[in-house]
Amino acid sequence: MAAEGSLARLEIDLGAIQANWRALGARHPSGPVAGVVKADAYGLGATHVAPALFAAGCRHFFTAHLQEALAIRPKLPGAMVAVLNGLPPGSEASFAAHDIAPVLGTPGEIARWAAEARRLGRALPALLHLDTGMNRLGLDAAQLAALAADPSALEGIALRYVMTHLSASEEPQDPANEAQRQRFAAACAMLPPLPRSFANSSGIFLGPGWASDLARPGAALYGINPTPGQSNPMRPVVRLSARVLALRAIRTGEAVGYNATWTARQDGRIATIGVGYADGWLRSHTNHGHAIFDGARLPLVGRVSMDLITLDATDCPALREGDMVELIGPGRGVDAVAEAAHTNGYEILTSLGRRYHRTWTA
Ligand SMILES: *Cc1c(COP(=O)(O)O)cnc(C)c1O
Repeated sequence: MAAEGSLARLEIDLGAIQANWRALGARHPSGPVAGVVKADAYGLGATHVAPALFAAGCRHFFTAHLQEALAIRPKLPGAMVAVLNGLPPGSEASFAAHDIAPVLGTPGEIARWAAEARRLGRALPALLHLDTGMNRLGLDAAQLAALAADPSALEGIALRYVMTHLSASEEPQDPANEAQRQRFAAACAMLPPLPRSFANSSGIFLGPGWASDLARPGAALYGINPTPGQSNPMRPVVRLSARVLALRAIRTGEAVGYNATWTARQDGRIATIGVGYADGWLRSHTNHGHAIFDGARLPLVGRVSMDLITLDATDCPALREGDMVELIGPGRGVDAVAEAAHTNGYEILTSLGRRYHRTWTA
């Protein structure tokens, strides 16, 4: 959205994303690090983020949908662009024509991709997804055993990587991590030797046992802490600031917002901001969290409404109408915002709305 009349500004630091990608690469010496840019690069603009990663040297990209891959494909010459959610029936020709690699996770997908390769008379790239405990996508043990017994099903498919996905990598103590590591090693041993892709953001921090030929981080690129409970090794990427639309006096006992969920216990001031749940400021922020102005905290009070939130500005006498308050930024990271809304940083970023004036800085 254009700057004129905008009520809030979302600044995305592409240089920080590049620095985060390089930092993850330094922690994953066993092989390159991809860029996961699904869901519009976690809400931050894949057509800006993917070329920035490419400029930094990234040559492997993952989206979830074909349409997301098509949007970035022309900007990434020679790079691998893969689609995590697989190969929808009828999309085979599009995948092949645009050199997009499906992540194959069912016998049906393998059969349709092999048939497309026969039809075109050339090998087609793909990744093979093996399930190791998520029970979501990827071949299960029986399907893998059948494939290992009859590898001709893969004829015509140029397998770039065999991959699996960790279910609890942000909790290093969870025994699921070691179980998945062992299952992945055993599953790969049933197939011909192929490059492997294993760790997501937090998986990169689990240790050398989870290193592979290609890591697939998303969240950490965008500044989400891949090591919850420890200090965040990533650089912050997002700054969201919003203008004070109105500043009003409130008397003791007066209520604020829908259904009067907050009542002033002293005379004070309320600042109203043009950001609401339609902008991704989740309704679960009701009476939770705060904005920052000049180092001071302005607690969010009352219900989050569709287009507005209200802040208690009583303890911030310097605040004026028209001032910009910070909702996300160096002083208040995505993870802290997520905690106040009882969710994770992934949901905060991918919920960021379309009404912000968005800028991308190099
Ligand atoms: C989303 C996703 C990733 C990236 O995960 P992060 O936790 O954001 O690093 C990697 N692999 C698969 C299969 C995914 O779905």
